[in-house]
Amino acid sequence: MKVTEHIQQSKGKTLFSFEIIPPQKGNNIEDLYTNIDPLMEFNPPFIDVTTSREEYIYIDKNGLLDRKITRMRPGTLGICAAVKHKYNVDTVPHVLCGGYTKEETEYLLVDCHYLGINNVMALRGDAMKHQKYFEPTKGGHTYANELVHQIANLNKGKYLHNVIETDNCTNFCVGVAGYPEKHIEAPSFQTDLRRLKEKVNAGADYVVTQMFFDNKKYFEFVNAARKEGITVPIIPGIKPLAVKRHLQILPQVFKIDLPEELIKAAENCKSNKEVRQVGIEWSIKQSKELLKAGVPVLHYYSMGKSDNIVAIAKKVF
Ligand SMILES: Cc1cc2nc3c(=O)[nH]c(=O)nc-3n(C[C@H](O)[C@H](O)[C@H](O)COP(=O)(O)OP(=O)(O)OC[C@H]3O[C@@H](n4cnc5c(N)ncnc54)[C@H](O)[C@@H]3O)c2cc1C
Repeated sequence: MKVTEHIQQSKGKTLFSFEIIPPQKGNNIEDLYTNIDPLMEFNPPFIDVTTSREEYIYIDKNGLLDRKITRMRPGTLGICAAVKHKYNVDTVPHVLCGGYTKEETEYLLVDCHYLGINNVMALRGDAMKHQKYFEPTKGGHTYANELVHQIANLNKGKYLHNVIETDNCTNFCVGVAGYPEKHIEAPSFQTDLRRLKEKVNAGADYVVTQMFFDNKKYFEFVNAARKEGITVPIIPGIKPLAVKRHLQILPQVFKIDLPEELIKAAENCKSNKEVRQVGIEWSIKQSKELLKAGVPVLHYYSMGKSDNIVAIAKKVF
């Protein structure tokens, strides 16, 4: 079923969902299941699976460094199929512009279609680790709205280069990213919103937000989006603070602000175990307020370990 159909069927009741990251290659999928198992109690209608960009690694060959390109966390589609089959739940693979030609994207979407995966998150992806700015892959898309357009075309039965036009269309429900605190590269909040509108105009069915720690940011973002004419569901993304280092990492990587109260509470902790508890309590508070406001879904970033999400969901759902 489509994410938007799940939302419609819930008739105003807030749904629970989460995002998982494929394990580093060489690891076992059972570890992933160990983290998913306790979360199934909260009946997620869909689970997102991220996609990682390829990266350069350097291999020492008799004192000379050999540069190789590799994906450290492959397997998004395989995990989507396995999790869908094991738990009878919809899975949402993240599909990126970066690292893929349009043809490779088409093949990936065809695979999704054959596997009965009806939802995809369409994203540009970040710059590769060694790059300062995102550089589009040769033959790939530059911005997420172009990727959304390609998926929308497949939904109309139009394959690349018009080689095939068919009535046997795909039926993807497309999610896109939204930024309550503006995307780092956008010259202004308002311009970023216009870009979001372009993604929706291209065919996006719903938005999932970047993590935020102050609900006011989400509410303001939703209001501004509605004024811009964006009418699709806007799903808040929640990340519980888990270690003290997040105080530096999260603002740096995701360009988000942390509330003073949360920073002080985390700084006063003597161990990361205490920080994890602070993060849980903050997310519970955030989630309860969002739930009261009637958000369609509370979507949690699990980053591998799920014990904190379980603790939050127990208090919220
Ligand atoms: C919910 C969520 C899930 C994510 N999952 C992943 C994942 O699995 N893997 C991963 O690598 N990354 C993931 N990301 C990160 C995402 O790839 C980055 O934030 C990336 O930098 C932007 O992606 P986007 O799809 O928002 O890009 P876009 O919508 O293309 O926007 C990128 C920037 O370009 C601007 N822009 C857009 N269109 C135009 C235009 N036509 N002309 C000029 N400027 C334009 C926008 O304002 C923005 O500043 C995720 C982010 C979110 C919020």
